[in-house]
Amino acid sequence: ITAEELTKDTLQKIHDKETNLNAYVTVNDDAVKDAAKVDADGIKGNLSGIPIAIKDNILTEGLLTTASSKILSNFMPVYNATVTEKLNAAGAINVGKTNLDEFAMGSSTETSYYGTSHNAWDYTKVPGGSSGGSAAAVASGDAIAALGTDTGGSIRQPASFNGIFGIKPTYGRVSRWGVIAFASSLDQVGVMSKRVEDSAEVLSTISGHDVHDSTSSEKEVPDYRANLNKDMHGVKIAVPKEFWDEGTDPKVLEQIDAALDVYKKLGATVEQVSLPTLKHAVEVYYVIASSEASSNLQRYDGVRYGFRAKDVKNIKELFVNSRSEGFGDEVKRRIMLGTFALSAGAYDAYFKKAAEVRTIFINELSDVLSKYNLIAGPVTTTTAFGINEKIDDPVAMYMNDILTIPANLAGLPAASVPAGLADGMPVGLQLMANKFDEQSIFNAAYALQ
Ligand code: GLN
Repeated sequence: ITAEELTKDTLQKIHDKETNLNAYVTVNDDAVKDAAKVDADGIKGNLSGIPIAIKDNILTEGLLTTASSKILSNFMPVYNATVTEKLNAAGAINVGKTNLDEFAMGSSTETSYYGTSHNAWDYTKVPGGSSGGSAAAVASGDAIAALGTDTGGSIRQPASFNGIFGIKPTYGRVSRWGVIAFASSLDQVGVMSKRVEDSAEVLSTISGHDVHDSTSSEKEVPDYRANLNKDMHGVKIAVPKEFWDEGTDPKVLEQIDAALDVYKKLGATVEQVSLPTLKHAVEVYYVIASSEASSNLQRYDGVRYGFRAKDVKNIKELFVNSRSEGFGDEVKRRIMLGTFALSAGAYDAYFKKAAEVRTIFINELSDVLSKYNLIAGPVTTTTAFGINEKIDDPVAMYMNDILTIPANLAGLPAASVPAGLADGMPVGLQLMANKFDEQSIFNAAYALQ
């Protein structure tokens, strides 16, 4: 099969399913031309001709990039994100830009200006979020892999809800240049795919130091796929008891326990540990993430780029109306929360306190990881919930992130690995590892596949 044939076939499949899934903001029909070029040039890169979808908060030159927000609904990037550039150089074919919660703020893809995406297993359920479009696209078999971003769980939770593998690498493993910023100390690009091998290949491709992102690491990038190894002998797995106590659905836990039994049979040791500060993780995250968001989103003012309000009398009205009309409710809620938490009167009580508790939590996690190779548990407390079920209850929506937030607060790599079904819907096993030890996660995921 040629790259052109594969791309045509993939685009056809995408179009056939879009009415049901709404996984994409933009389907890249021009990808056929890119594929023809790959065929003409011959195999050059390790991803030559492979269809990959890219979350719509990652810049793609000449291809609409909206972050699923009205305020960027006309935004045509003039340069590529580093990750896009690296995929192109490897010969990958970008088949489209996937839907997300507006500015990646959400856990269900329901806050998208372009309408909610649907779970690939059950269209009445959410695909999770914010990388819900990427997860639905991969689970339905359109794209072999998709890029997502994960600030508080946005790769792992949708991967879990759609029964696919998804990995958020260590903070700094992948460049954030050209990734639309939400919370800069937490954001990280990662990969989703059905097969562990495919994510391993793509993550090696997009990782590495970038002069444009001073937080990107200079550490050498391993060949994760070549190093895959199913041997679990001597691997020490910690299981935090709080992950079992957070009101987690017993049917979800049954599947997680079964996965842990497999690891024991394969020679790993599994021991219970405690993360007492987990109970504060959601509060800490929402103060920090919203504060950083309120600062990052100042740039959308209707002047430089993006949506501009009409019929304004003066510059102040231009700012106010462009932002009032351009941002959705959830984004406004975060901007207000973050602006408040950073204000002179509230800074010590909220932002500073959250930063202090974050440090305590980081120490708790690194203490556990000094003795164990992996931390394991569920990704979420339930399987995918229904569309409209939580959208009017922000706190219920936020609580959904309690088990994924720890990895972001501490900058640790973490993944969701398919681990059976509960009531017919997929369950994800979460694996976290020490910084830059993505390989241990890939190996353990591979052993379960
Ligand atoms: N659900 C979380 C939030 O709304 C995480 C989102 C993300 O990881 N981008 O902030």
